[in-house]
Amino acid sequence: MTDKKTDNSSALNRRNFLKLGAAGAALGAIAIPAKAKETITKKIDEKTAGNFIKTHDEFPHEIRDDYKPHSNQDIMFTAGFWGFHPEDVDVANSGKQFGYKTFMHYEEKKGFDQLSKALNAGGWALHNNVSPLASQAISGSGILKWDQYRKKEGEFLPHHDWVNEHQYEFENKQEATNAIKRAAKLYGADLVGITKRDKRWDYSDFVDPQAIMEGRPEDSVYGWERFPFEPKSVIVVAFEMDYEAIATAPTDVQGAGAGAEYSSMTKTVYQMAVFLKQLGYQAVPCGNDTGLSIPYAIAAGLGEGSRMGNLITYKYGPRVRLAKIYTDFEFVEYDKPIEFGAMEFCKNCMRCADACPNGAITFDKEPSFEPTHENKDRSWYNAKGVKKYYMDARKCFYTWGEFGTDCGSCMASCPYNKPDFWHHRLVDKITAAMPGPVHDFMREMDQLFGYGEVGNLEKIDKFYDPKGRSYNGH
Ligand code: SF4
Ligand code: SF4
Repeated sequence: MTDKKTDNSSALNRRNFLKLGAAGAALGAIAIPAKAKETITKKIDEKTAGNFIKTHDEFPHEIRDDYKPHSNQDIMFTAGFWGFHPEDVDVANSGKQFGYKTFMHYEEKKGFDQLSKALNAGGWALHNNVSPLASQAISGSGILKWDQYRKKEGEFLPHHDWVNEHQYEFENKQEATNAIKRAAKLYGADLVGITKRDKRWDYSDFVDPQAIMEGRPEDSVYGWERFPFEPKSVIVVAFEMDYEAIATAPTDVQGAGAGAEYSSMTKTVYQMAVFLKQLGYQAVPCGNDTGLSIPYAIAAGLGEGSRMGNLITYKYGPRVRLAKIYTDFEFVEYDKPIEFGAMEFCKNCMRCADACPNGAITFDKEPSFEPTHENKDRSWYNAKGVKKYYMDARKCFYTWGEFGTDCGSCMASCPYNKPDFWHHRLVDKITAAMPGPVHDFMREMDQLFGYGEVGNLEKIDKFYDPKGRSYNGH
């Protein structure tokens, strides 16, 4: 990592770390009401976040000169569901198996039974209805359309999904940032960052499923010339997934936690696009489509890369879903990438690699510019040339086909995935401040306290347990 603006790595020495760690663990066990814990968490964050979060001026991963933007045809979902890379028969079979098992096939097994499948289907319902192909990385699906309609004189369009002729002028850069981030929060985002459009993270081409279904393979791929405007900025939004649902990984209850946020993100990015269009700017709402959400989220300062390949956010760890809005609105200032020690922690941790049921995550100590996994010579799905941990998406996809739901064991096992109790946040900060040996210690402590265990079906009972919750109107 490069261009650190601040370096507070010596802010805590080992003795203080141990004191703080012990205090955090002991006080965490005290029965403090949840509301008080929330208040304490916020106070700790206010006072300490600045000491642990560093910013970068540039994208924080090294990039080799031969790096090329990723083709939409090489995304595992596009290949698995739409027949790109037919030579990879196992990938195509996994796609079919996943499609069949997801909501159409119940098992007797807890976590994959009718109740769990129904919960999962409800989670995905909005997303699958209004943008059915976006989760498969297909652009322009349903309400996540590229269309920038200019309303005709006197035409009445109650959805307001058209670009206003009159362009609102913000008084200054701060007003623009405040308004746009506040709107994203209002519409449901948990985190918002804004970055410049960067062609390195855009797909180099796009897939047209209509052409595939109509048997016109020659028309099934198209380029950026169809995009309606020259994007200047990308607004990236993150959505926290339910801790207890994700903790049940790998089950359909976990899938429901993911699907619920796919539904939320679709709603939010569509509303954001309408908001920008009504301000007179062009905007395209996107989920997994059009560009790579994770590097865009890193560039927009939402979190760090990780061994498992997912974004790790400061607030929610990897337990987030990401979406984005491309717009021609040009901000004067953009958010900067951040670092709080997650990538460094990954070097010693490897818990996600242990938890992965199919060995898709590398145990390499250091990140690399190329995949090192056993399928590296036919890994068309890995965008090579960025210094990071390369996972084997083929193996991951097989697992999804086998379970009939997205697995999520890596997220559930990660020490950064915690409910937001204040002593956990404290420990996360301490890990950011201290080097390798302390990380080993933290990894073990985390396991000792029972966090990150996967494949425990009792967690489903905990998910449904009404204890400590009230759903009533009184
Ligand atoms: S989702 Fe499951 S199979 Fe895929 S990398 Fe994570 S743990 Fe492994
Ligand atoms: S489980 Fe450990 S190694 Fe894996 S992403 Fe989380 S911190 Fe990194």
